[in-house]
Amino acid sequence: MSEKDRPRTDRAEHARLQKALRESVILRELADILNSSLDLEHILQELVKRTTELCEVPRCAFWQLEEAGERLLPTTYYLASSVLSSKKRKAADAIWYRGHLSISNPIITGLLDEGGVLTVEDLRAEPTLKHFAETFQVVSVLLIALMRDGRPVGLMSLDYPGQFHAFSQEQQQLARAIGQQATIAIHNAYLYQQAQVQQQRAEHLIERAQAVYQVAMRVNSGEELPVVLKLATDHLAHSLNASAGIAMLLAPGEAELLQPACTLSQEMHEHLDAIGLSLDDLPNFWLAIHTGLPLLVTAELAQDQEVEWFHRFGLKYMLLVPLMGGSPPGGANWDLPGTSRILRYTQKESLLDIHCPGLIVLHYTRRRKPTSGEYAFAQDIAAQCALAIEKARLLAEAREAAILATERASTLDAVFQAMSEGITVVTSSDEQVSFSNHAVARFLGVPVYSRLPLKTFLEEHPAYTLDGHLIPFEDFPVVRALHSKVQIRGERFLTARADGTPRVVELTATPLRDSEMRQIGLVCAIRDVTVQVQAEQRVRVALDTFLHIAEAVSHSKGIHEILHSVLAEALKTLNCARGTVHLYQQSFEPLLSLGFTPDEEARWLQQQDLWLNPRTGQEYGFFAQLMSGQATLVSADHCPVQPNPFTNTLVLAAPIKHNQSILGLILLDRSTAVTQARPPQRLSGFTNWDLTIISGIAQLAGAVLEQTRWQQEANEARASAAAMREANAMKNEFLAITAHEFRNPLTVILARSQSAIKTLQRAKGSNSLPAIEEHLSIISAQGKQLNNIVTTFLDAARINQGQLSLKTEVTDLEQIARQVVEEQSVLAEQHSLQCITDEIHQPYLVMGDRACLHQVIANLVENAIKYSPHGGPVAISLHRCRENPQAETIEVCVEDKGVGIPPEAHERLFERFYRVPQTGGSDARGVGLGLYIVSHLVAMHGSQIRVESSGVPGEGSRFIFTLPALPEPSFDKLTRPETRLSE
Ligand code: ADP
Repeated sequence: MSEKDRPRTDRAEHARLQKALRESVILRELADILNSSLDLEHILQELVKRTTELCEVPRCAFWQLEEAGERLLPTTYYLASSVLSSKKRKAADAIWYRGHLSISNPIITGLLDEGGVLTVEDLRAEPTLKHFAETFQVVSVLLIALMRDGRPVGLMSLDYPGQFHAFSQEQQQLARAIGQQATIAIHNAYLYQQAQVQQQRAEHLIERAQAVYQVAMRVNSGEELPVVLKLATDHLAHSLNASAGIAMLLAPGEAELLQPACTLSQEMHEHLDAIGLSLDDLPNFWLAIHTGLPLLVTAELAQDQEVEWFHRFGLKYMLLVPLMGGSPPGGANWDLPGTSRILRYTQKESLLDIHCPGLIVLHYTRRRKPTSGEYAFAQDIAAQCALAIEKARLLAEAREAAILATERASTLDAVFQAMSEGITVVTSSDEQVSFSNHAVARFLGVPVYSRLPLKTFLEEHPAYTLDGHLIPFEDFPVVRALHSKVQIRGERFLTARADGTPRVVELTATPLRDSEMRQIGLVCAIRDVTVQVQAEQRVRVALDTFLHIAEAVSHSKGIHEILHSVLAEALKTLNCARGTVHLYQQSFEPLLSLGFTPDEEARWLQQQDLWLNPRTGQEYGFFAQLMSGQATLVSADHCPVQPNPFTNTLVLAAPIKHNQSILGLILLDRSTAVTQARPPQRLSGFTNWDLTIISGIAQLAGAVLEQTRWQQEANEARASAAAMREANAMKNEFLAITAHEFRNPLTVILARSQSAIKTLQRAKGSNSLPAIEEHLSIISAQGKQLNNIVTTFLDAARINQGQLSLKTEVTDLEQIARQVVEEQSVLAEQHSLQCITDEIHQPYLVMGDRACLHQVIANLVENAIKYSPHGGPVAISLHRCRENPQAETIEVCVEDKGVGIPPEAHERLFERFYRVPQTGGSDARGVGLGLYIVSHLVAMHGSQIRVESSGVPGEGSRFIFTLPALPEPSFDKLTRPETRLSE
């Protein structure tokens, strides 16, 4: 049966069945298509497209319920291309995706109440959706809710854009059926999508964990900081989908300046170079670093140089991740980065002073805000970076400390090795000595750094006190320092060097302490002070010498005596056998010598004279040196002249000088070692020290010499002043005496001559001749006395003026003596005067001036009488002395038993006008010229007069002089009886 033949109802039924069949096929196909994919977008696109086709509507849209379940968001729509112009489609597209439907919208709640299918005749009439409907040109709409387990998954809308349409039952059923089919597929796709998201999230987490792990591994393996920071930055940038990342560190020492910490591309460098990197110009950087919190900076929030940064790198966002270790400070919420925090922390004063060494800057050229998970990841990476920085810092410090320690150790070792002191270290625990430098190792002949027990060491190297006593173990300075913890500073002892030479050693011990200041040993510095001690001894000897010289000089009277002491001390100190002292006045003249035999001395002086008083053109170098005031060595070595006149000479010459002028010279000779028998050999020379000592001695001698001279001059000046005073006093006394001596005879002469005149006047006619005669004789006697006095003055004057001359002839002294006795006997009634001669009589002949010799003897006899006020014998004795038969002499002695002369007056007795004060018991007058004239007259005869007297009154005095006797004349020897002065 053909279609035409079938009844109308059948045809309708058939058509309906056909359609249902087709629909079911399409539905099945749709179900297949939808179920064949898990791609939600694809499913939805297929869904909306097929729905328009199946339901024969021009537009179908799908709204997906958002995760929170509050809103339906437009997801996909399909519009039959013929319905709207392409321009309108574009406009619709732009609008479509911005809209949403609230789940609580009455239309939606109505839809759900209606079991999931709702037709709205005119959506524009719904106040809540009016705007949407108008914009999107929705008039009549069929809404299908896609339900799964009683909950909506999404919403499908079918409409005729801009048209009223009454949706048929079939359309509604078909749409519902499509919705049911789609729900399963969408739900599956949802599940799949969620699974995908979860997987992605898990993958992200793993990726991040791996990134953190990798960074941590690099940190732990001690990788260089820039490498770690580069890795961390790359991971961070990658995981947070940033376009680039830069790790920046605050410059050490300049806390406000940022520096890129890992390798950057040339371009990035150039950009950064153009931006000021001071935190002062980067406020958001400052904030991130000082809060320790990551900060998302948008272009709107950028300030100062940050604006330039955004511009240079073409950024939309910038994420600043401060490199902070541990959890965020102050429990701050990491999940809420953004502008609100900036506001919260802009008050800089309220911030904690968080130490953050730097930050990672992530660049975003697209608008994509990091998620909270990404912030957490950034925190983890930042913590690892902070750890790496801290570790690098510690490592650098440790490396620096190690370098420093090594440097110190090497320096210490170098110092030890360079030290001239020997260094040993003694450990307290085991009492071992370690020889820590070459000096001590050399000194003791042990390997450097070797060790020995202290006890063994001291047994092998015993120590002695400076006076030679063995120091017991317990008393050894190191042992005392170790056991009693006493300080040892510069203790000296004797020990032997490796070659056995005895040395004086000075030891200083310093405690060695551990970090808790417990003594764990000693560092001992040992110094060989032998030379120093010898020098000290030499200085002591020199000082002793100077002291001795000073002492000797203080007791010495004259220059000769002083220089003798100086030379003796110099010879002793410098260990020389012989030496001389010379004085200088235009040339050097020897003054004194020590240690020579007369022959040697002459020869030696002659040799020294060669250079001491050189002939012109023959000056030697050492002479010039001497004249410039320097001590010098006179030896062949110092004399360039050939042939060398000083081959066997070894003389030390030091000028005695004062105020730059040479006063003299000390010569010390050591060349005695060379004898004729032995060939000339190297003499044991003088040392510089000897030179110094002799210079010092000579200097001292110069000063003393000058002082002595000065003192002598002062004494002479004083003496001449005293002499002048005395002369004046004598002159006064002389005037007084003269006046006195002259007045007496003159008074007598005047008185007697007047008496004689008066007697003559009265005598006219009487016999007064005897009285006149007496007056005249007294006048005559007094006149004679005056004459004597005047004669004496004249004699003295002649002597003074050198006018007295002798008339020598053969003179018999006995004759003169007897004549004097005769003359004086008349005048001296109280005295017995005698002339005593030797037993064997010979004439006492001398060559002399008879008158003068008479005057001498007469004067002596007169004095003898004058100063024997109580009488007593006076004798002139003549005695021939034959001790030397070739030179026989005659001794004349005038002796009395008078007042005597005190010994202290003897010295001055023969001076002009000298009179012994208060001569005991004698008021004899005189002018003090008699003995002066006598002594001169005797001296003119080539002899001297002397006095012998105890000064005791009654014991008297003896004046004695001798004259050469003339050879015996050939006349008979006469024997005279001995006449001696009785006691
Ligand atoms: P003067 O007798 O005129 O005083 P002199 O020169 O003769 O002078 O004697 C000097 C002094 O020596 C005397 O003043 C006297 O004190 C003392 N003197 C001389 N001769 C004797 C003597 N024989 N006995 C004691 N004193 C004497």
